[in-house]
Amino acid sequence: MNRITIAIDGYSSCGKSTLAKQLAKKLGYSYIDSGAMYRAVALWCLENNAIENGVPDNGKIIANLSNIKIEFRFHPEIQSSQTYLNGRNIEKEIRGMAVSEVVSKISSIKEVRQKMVMLQRQFGEDKGVVMDGRDIGSIVFPNAELKLFMTADPVIRAKRRYDELKAKGTEVSIEEIAENLRLRDYEDTTRKENPLIQAADAVVLDNSRLTPEQQFAAAWKLVEERLVTA
Ligand code: C5P
Repeated sequence: MNRITIAIDGYSSCGKSTLAKQLAKKLGYSYIDSGAMYRAVALWCLENNAIENGVPDNGKIIANLSNIKIEFRFHPEIQSSQTYLNGRNIEKEIRGMAVSEVVSKISSIKEVRQKMVMLQRQFGEDKGVVMDGRDIGSIVFPNAELKLFMTADPVIRAKRRYDELKAKGTEVSIEEIAENLRLRDYEDTTRKENPLIQAADAVVLDNSRLTPEQQFAAAWKLVEERLVTA
C-alpha cells in the first residue's frame, strides 16, 4: 500500500499531538512533533542568554543555528520518541512554562523557520510521516495527502493543558495557561513568516466535545479514504 503524508495543524493545545501519535502508531509511520523543534531552539536561547526579558537576540540566534542540533530518538520502553538538543534529552524541559512563554518569539524569526522547515522536509522525504504544527499543511508539506486543521474551545484547551501539566508535576495555574495559550495563538496567527493558517484543502476537526477515541475515529475515516486514492 502507498505511504502518505499526514499534516496536522491548529492552535496550541488542541490535541494535535494525541491524534498524530495515535495515527502514526496505527499506520506504523513516524511521528514528528514540529513544535518540539521550535521549543528546543527556545531552550537553547534561554540557556545561552540569547533572549533577555522576552526579547530575542536575533543576530546571536541566527549566527548559532548550526550549533543547535535537534534530533528525535525513539525510546522502546515508552514506545515514543523524545527530543534531544545537542545530544541531551530535553523532553521534560521543553514542556515547561519558561519555554512556552518565549517559544512564539523564537519561532517568528525567519531564519529559524527556514532551518526548521528544511529539517522537517528531510524527516518526511520518504512519506509515511505524521507531522503536527502550525504550517505543516500550508508550507512544509503543501502536497500532503491528508491535512487536518484542529480547533477546540479555548476554555477546554486550557483545562486539558492544565491537567496534563499537573499530572507531570508542573506547578502552574489555569489562568496562567489560558493567558499563555491566548498569547501564543495571537503571535502564531499574526506573525509575518508562515503564520498559522488553515490550508484551503484542510479538513477542520473541532474536538471540543470529542473524546480522544471519537476524534481518532473521525480522523481514521479520512485516512482510509486517502489511502485508497493515494
Ligand atoms: O505545538 P507546540 O505548542 O508545542 O508549539 C510550540 C510553538 O512552536 C508554537 O506556539 C509556535 O510558536 C511554534 N510552532 C511553529 N510552527 C510549527 C510548530 C510550532 O511556529 N510548525
